[in-house]
Amino acid sequence: MIKNLIDCHAHVDFKFDLNKLKDDDPFKKLAKTFNTKKIIDNAIKNNVVAIINNGTNPETNKNCLKLSKEFPIIKSALGMYPTDGLEFSETEIDKEIEFIKKNKKNIIAIGEIGLDNYLIDMNKKQKKKMNDNFLKMLELASSIKKPVIIHSRKAEKEVIDILSSFDIKAQMHCYGGKLKLAKQAIEQGIIFSIPPNIVKNQAFEKLVEITPINQLLTETDTPFLSPHKDKLNEPSNVIYSIKKIAEIKDLDEQETANLIFSNYQNIFL
Ligand SMILES: [Zn+2]
Repeated sequence: MIKNLIDCHAHVDFKFDLNKLKDDDPFKKLAKTFNTKKIIDNAIKNNVVAIINNGTNPETNKNCLKLSKEFPIIKSALGMYPTDGLEFSETEIDKEIEFIKKNKKNIIAIGEIGLDNYLIDMNKKQKKKMNDNFLKMLELASSIKKPVIIHSRKAEKEVIDILSSFDIKAQMHCYGGKLKLAKQAIEQGIIFSIPPNIVKNQAFEKLVEITPINQLLTETDTPFLSPHKDKLNEPSNVIYSIKKIAEIKDLDEQETANLIFSNYQNIFL
């Protein structure tokens, strides 16, 4: 069994809002099967040695810290998800930044943060707010010397350009942008984390092909991005990313896991 597996981006304590999910939403049925303790146990059994759990707002940030105290395998990244951030006033955002600063010893990264032009229709004011929040989070990361875990959807160019003016280590989670732009990101030193749904996604295969092994990490985005239809994702599934990366890079699977593990150590510890 492969050892030293790492999940660098997950939401193991994700709370589905059952009232908001439509009856025909496939997550409606699956949501009831989601059990944090069970997936953590399963991760440990399958040799996952660290899971970076990401907060997305003040409530999930607090929960993230609580969970990492309870389970040593859980490492916290605290942040502000681009769309969640629109719900809070500037004062509330600044208060959260203070909260994160106060907890800097208990976290290993700032995340999940970024830009999203896809999820909702934004007016100019909202777009500016999203950008301002992102910049504030990057400044925070820079001031407390932590890496960042980035979400970007339909905003990859913007995000990569913004990151180029910061001297921080950045992990791009579930990158969906153009390959040419990925090349620019690689030159900038950005790290890509590869989810298990690479098994059914050629774009991720191409991304792995062009990215040096020392700029790759594995993630799951649990409970999303499952490699299996009709199942929720969980950290133990990072093995699918390892197998695929090993195949593409023509490396032994354990060797690949060890290399990804040392990338994790270099970036976050
Ligand atoms: Zn996420």
